[in-house]
Amino acid sequence: MNNSDSILVLGAGPAGMASAWELSRAGKQVTVIEKAGQVGGLAKTYVFNEPQGTFRVDNGPHRFFSKNKYLYDMIGDLLGEKWIQVKRLTRFFVDGKFYYYPVRFRNVLGQMGIFKANKMLRDYSIEHVKGRLRKKKPESFEDFVVARFGRTLAEFNMINYTEKIWGIPAKEISVDWAEQRIAGLSIWAALKKMLVKKGGPKTLVDTFYYPSLGSGLVYETMSKKIQEKGSEVLLNAQPTRIVHENGSVISVDVGTKTLRPRSVISSIPITRSVELFDPIAPEAVRQAAKKLRFRAQVYLFLTIDKKKVTDDNWVYFPDKEVPFGRITEMKNFSKEMCPKGRTSLFIEFFCFEGDEIWNAGKEKLFDMAMEWLEKLKFLKREEVLNIHMIKEPDAYPIYDLEYAENVRVITEWLDSFENFFAIGRPGRFRYTNQDHSLEMGILAARSVLEGKRYEVDSVGSGSEYFERGYVPSDTSR
Ligand SMILES: Cc1cc2nc3c(=O)[nH]c(=O)nc-3n(C[C@H](O)[C@H](O)[C@H](O)COP(=O)(O)OP(=O)(O)OC[C@H]3O[C@@H](n4cnc5c(N)ncnc54)[C@H](O)[C@@H]3O)c2cc1C
Repeated sequence: MNNSDSILVLGAGPAGMASAWELSRAGKQVTVIEKAGQVGGLAKTYVFNEPQGTFRVDNGPHRFFSKNKYLYDMIGDLLGEKWIQVKRLTRFFVDGKFYYYPVRFRNVLGQMGIFKANKMLRDYSIEHVKGRLRKKKPESFEDFVVARFGRTLAEFNMINYTEKIWGIPAKEISVDWAEQRIAGLSIWAALKKMLVKKGGPKTLVDTFYYPSLGSGLVYETMSKKIQEKGSEVLLNAQPTRIVHENGSVISVDVGTKTLRPRSVISSIPITRSVELFDPIAPEAVRQAAKKLRFRAQVYLFLTIDKKKVTDDNWVYFPDKEVPFGRITEMKNFSKEMCPKGRTSLFIEFFCFEGDEIWNAGKEKLFDMAMEWLEKLKFLKREEVLNIHMIKEPDAYPIYDLEYAENVRVITEWLDSFENFFAIGRPGRFRYTNQDHSLEMGILAARSVLEGKRYEVDSVGSGSEYFERGYVPSDTSR
């Protein structure tokens, strides 16, 4: 690609594919470079053809939720009848008992008992009073949830699960994580939801949209359509050097080719893009990049000779004695995710790349998982048809207490290049869901098209462009 009018997109996850799709719809020539063998990034769908039929599975359960009608319209137009609505049933398992999530009043009282419920309310009331006197803002995730919900509730299902996800103590996790994910939650909103069955903040949603062949279908459809319009999607490909001069990127090496795009939109890990710049990035930027870490995951996908394991979409396991964090039954998202009469289970282990879990191997992880799945009467070993193992090194950007300053140093430098746009979850080091990555991708495309840089960090922060109605819901353009 030596056409100086073409645009290079690095990474074919939701952010990269949304920018490629938006640019392609505007008549631009795009080249997408993706390291993996398929598009979709963390929202991809794996397909396993087995003698019993085809099993599909996402990289973890992918419920689509957004405040932005434009995104629903965009995906609805792409998928048509394959954009289905799914009833949500999710639970969490704590202290040997199952609780519905969103919580149900009778279920909570019945399982927890009046004594513990009382303790929760008492702790909550104490924190509520303390909150009126408190001057200092909470600094860590633990401080935030204890102050907001009281210690008993915070420890019941927030602190344990969070520590399991991140692999560091909740005291060392930035308050940004709590503000981003649970700021809208309050005891009263949850109680109101339990008692009157309507209202409630954004995480308490009873149905959600889902592509009937898996979350990856959105990105596979975009990929197909942009290629039909003459753009390229190169899989199993990676950039090896980003050459810059006078504040502009002038070329990008990919394998043996040197591409000279007009603009580069990058959703590959921010830590990797910094390493690729030539001349090398300033010392402060490289040091900041070295301090950022991603949490990894290893997944087991079991294909199962049984009609059903649960009625749940997914079940969380906050307790640390359970080695996995969540199980997902894809059949309960869409019956097209497995052959008739069979089902499957996706099991998530959280880890760091190179640690004991990362290196455990599938037989060992299977033994660890089956001990609990058999105990909880979900599954028997002899019902498992096949075990697949998948590894994801860059699953969660870790929000430690210093991450925000490190990200600021790097993004300020990257954003100073007039034709380089860092976006997305790994590309911006932001814990986005699909909707926010899609929005960042669309805004980057519009920055290129309109020649003015839209700020992407406010996406999902409550002051975003989309909520203010920046993007028209008319998708006919
Ligand atoms: C277990 C799990 C469950 C989730 N559940 C939900 C959910 O229920 N709902 C929801 O909306 N979101 C969910 N998400 C989040 C969602 O998957 C992400 O928000 C989304 O995929 C981020 O898109 P992205 O494009 O920003 O980044 P990614 O999806 O990470 O895409 C980045 C892409 O860049 C590629 N890449 C990396 N390095 C290079 C390189 N050097 N060269 C070229 N390409 C490279 C990667 O292979 C990848 O394809 C979940 C995520 C996980 C891990």
